[in-house]
Amino acid sequence: MAAGWDFAFPPACVACGGDLDVRSRSSCRICDECRSKLTVHADHLSCLRCGAPVGPYVDRQRGCQECRREQFAFKTVFRLGIYDGAVREVVIRGKYLHGEPLLTSLAELVWEHAGNEMEAMKFNLVVPIPQHWRQRMLTRHHAPDILAEAWGRRLQVPVGYPILAKVRKTRKQARLNRTERHKNQHQVFRVTRPASVQGKTILLVDDVLTTGATAHSAARTLRQNGAKMVVVAVIARALGHR
Ligand SMILES: [Zn+2]
Ligand SMILES: [Zn+2]
Repeated sequence: MAAGWDFAFPPACVACGGDLDVRSRSSCRICDECRSKLTVHADHLSCLRCGAPVGPYVDRQRGCQECRREQFAFKTVFRLGIYDGAVREVVIRGKYLHGEPLLTSLAELVWEHAGNEMEAMKFNLVVPIPQHWRQRMLTRHHAPDILAEAWGRRLQVPVGYPILAKVRKTRKQARLNRTERHKNQHQVFRVTRPASVQGKTILLVDDVLTTGATAHSAARTLRQNGAKMVVVAVIARALGHR
């Protein structure tokens, strides 16, 4: 479709298709109604290790019941919400054809809530969780790439696509138990340019963090190759897959 449609019609919300306030100059093209649905958990207390929501009496540094048994090679997780309801719906739609504007707006929404904290981390590099080359041939766009581009732009930090490669295909994490999950993620990633990660503070990007096993495996590979620190950013944290 021609870009001219944008001028012929008032701008629409990328989540529901409803009218967007034309005065809004935000690059997040999501209407107020969708915004309030998608940000229910955005500013609630969350576990500093895994991004799960926690009550006020939990020691957020030590982890929550979702992650206490896990070892993570990443330091903390930025996320917009919980993988449920409206958030789950938009994350799934973002993967489909023409899902890129929706993903970009979701990345902007994360930035509105966590941008200051993200900036304070002083990242040197943004790295999306890669796909296996065989998967890459089948998909038009890879959600982590679109999110990484949006956050890289905001942070004014380069996005390192070819730095991390997925060298082995994996099974769907959510259906596996804990032992299978770790086996499934063993030696899945490889750093193709170690000099590019040495001493760097890296923002590792995925669309959803489920058990954390994938992000852990990627973060561990980056750390083993000399990265100083790895922090994860996703749209949503999925719960209940312990
Ligand atoms: Zn909307
Ligand atoms: Zn946790």
